[in-house]
Amino acid sequence: MNIHDMNRRDFIKLLGATGAVSTLTACGLPTAAMAKAGGRVVVVGGGFGGATCASYLKRWGPDLNVTLVEKEAKYVTCPFSNKVIAGDMSIAEITHSYDGLKARGINVINGEVTGVDAAAKKVSLKGGQALSADALVLSPGISFEYGRVENDDKVAESMPHAWHAGPQTVLLRKQLEAMADGGVVLIVPPRKPFRCPPGPYERASLIAHYLKANKPKSRIVIVDSNPSHSKQKAFHAAWAHLYGLGEGKMIQWVSGDQGGPVVKIDPSTMTVEKEFGDKFKGDVINFIPHQKASALVMSAGLTNKDGWCDVDQGTFESKVAKSVYVLGDSCVAGAMPKSGHSANSQAKNCAAAIVAKMAGQSQPTPSYANTCYSLISPDFGISVAAVYQLKEGAIKKVSGGVTPPHPGENDRFYKNEAKYAKGWYKGITSDMFG
Ligand SMILES: Cc1cc2nc3c(=O)[nH]c(=O)nc-3n(C[C@H](O)[C@H](O)[C@H](O)COP(=O)(O)OP(=O)(O)OC[C@H]3O[C@@H](n4cnc5c(N)ncnc54)[C@H](O)[C@@H]3O)c2cc1C
Repeated sequence: MNIHDMNRRDFIKLLGATGAVSTLTACGLPTAAMAKAGGRVVVVGGGFGGATCASYLKRWGPDLNVTLVEKEAKYVTCPFSNKVIAGDMSIAEITHSYDGLKARGINVINGEVTGVDAAAKKVSLKGGQALSADALVLSPGISFEYGRVENDDKVAESMPHAWHAGPQTVLLRKQLEAMADGGVVLIVPPRKPFRCPPGPYERASLIAHYLKANKPKSRIVIVDSNPSHSKQKAFHAAWAHLYGLGEGKMIQWVSGDQGGPVVKIDPSTMTVEKEFGDKFKGDVINFIPHQKASALVMSAGLTNKDGWCDVDQGTFESKVAKSVYVLGDSCVAGAMPKSGHSANSQAKNCAAAIVAKMAGQSQPTPSYANTCYSLISPDFGISVAAVYQLKEGAIKKVSGGVTPPHPGENDRFYKNEAKYAKGWYKGITSDMFG
């Protein structure tokens, strides 16, 4: 069933009933467990998974000793970074400090973890410090899988990926600003699975918004290796409505079925080549490399043959190391996409499971949710939303839907989606860092 056909109150009731909204309070956690849990937990990575997990461990287990290790002094969110690329927001507006987590009593260490001894539940930091714990939580995000496209490890400066928000985001923005009117922007998405399935297509949308207003003779070509993409009907209908879609129009999508996947990029000629020889030349190229779990969890021996971490999908405990939990983009989480909202939802279930275990209680019933808004322009949005439950050991979708592809009929609906996106961002970042 499409959530937009569904009574909105019923959907929110369902989110609430499953304890899945981002302001979720106790995840069905027995109150007794909250008081009794004691022990030491070390969380690595202060992003959507790690910051949320550290925060909820302390909320639900006030007596727990919680340490969060994060290599950056501040966290820059990937959500809304496409707005920075389009010149609609500053990088400062998507940068968050860890002061709120410190105020909760979490010991925040600004340092890089260089090694994980999963069997000993111990991490080593650059500089020689080592931390041991009763439980380790790892949410270090993704790493790039170089070598699948020729030259893919040589182009971060010439063809910025901007898939870790920060300096790369600013670099891509600067390249767009420097591009002459009439230029061609190539966006090259990675092959699935990857962080934020709608991300490259939201990026195309917001760059088109910038070009339409500032460099209207310019074009965007999405040179895809995938035969289909997230929210495809909704994106394509909105592109046709706002910018023009197809060859010679402002946005052109070249699917993986047309010419095969991308096999080569050449920074000296600024070209992208597909398997059967089709070549695309760009003035600005956003090449997003293929992805796998963070190098940290890989070197710790926690990944499977595909490069991702298998976990118990109820607790996020690693399948290969006891009391080591892996969250967010690095883990295999059934039907959930690799998104910040998914990581936030997984983190709460993981925190609840750890607090209950440390208090000698049984694990609470897990439940999960994800919403991904995509902005077609700053005031025109679409979304996908879903609620998930654990069934036979795997996370399965039980309800949800995508914005219907009918822009032009009722634009107020799409304008509201853009407003909800702003509310979502404010809510989830204060949930993580507040
Ligand atoms: C352009 C773009 C737009 C997006 N938009 C959305 C959106 O609208 N909604 C949404 O839900 N999701 C969105 N996402 C996806 C979202 O950003 C990720 O899914 C989410 O960040 C995953 O959370 P995580 O905890 O796994 O990793 P992260 O949030 O990346 O956190 C990992 C943290 O670990 C730290 N770290 C890594 N290695 C180490 C180490 N060795 N030592 C110490 N610290 C370390 C990193 O510095 C980082 O802070 C978007 C992504 C992109 C690229």
